[in-house]
Amino acid sequence: MSVSDLVLELSDTIPDFPKPGIVFRDLTPVFANADAFTAIIDDLAARFAGKYDAVAGLEARGFLLAAALAYAGHVPLVAIRKEGKLPGEVLSETYDLEYGTATFEIHPGQIVSGSRVLIVDDVLATGGSAVAATRLVERAGYVVGGIGVVLELDGLGGRDRLGDYELYSIVTEA
Ligand code: IMP
Repeated sequence: MSVSDLVLELSDTIPDFPKPGIVFRDLTPVFANADAFTAIIDDLAARFAGKYDAVAGLEARGFLLAAALAYAGHVPLVAIRKEGKLPGEVLSETYDLEYGTATFEIHPGQIVSGSRVLIVDDVLATGGSAVAATRLVERAGYVVGGIGVVLELDGLGGRDRLGDYELYSIVTEA
């Protein structure tokens, strides 16, 4: 079975989570399947081969992907964390949520300046979090090597918001 078929077959759809009216796509059953998780990591690594020197994961589910990719490629791992979790000097970017705002932070100066950073997360929806991540990567002095997600929810404007960055989704769905 192809990696996209594995994602579609194993993922769950949960109505009214985490709030009434929201339809939540749950990829944890995909990650819980060793063949599927391995295929996801191999697919992302192949798709961006030669285009990244480091991997950044978005807290929290992006960490699962980023850690495996960093190990597979033997490249540095960068954590893009929710506000208030990283000690010391941080760069911050606030972005809009459906209701309110959220802030991501990064530690500058931990990898070589000019590194091409592959940003990964489980799901791309409105793109707000991915755009914030691209800003942090660039403000830290790195280059965005690409953005890789397992599932892109089409029609929420995420791809448009990411402009010219190279975005790859294993599965795109309406
Ligand atoms: P965005 O910032 O609107 O693109 O939302 C993407 C972020 O929210 C990612 O970090 C996802 O993990 C999370 N997210 C949004 N919708 C879903 C969903 O349906 N399932 C799982 N995560 C989601």
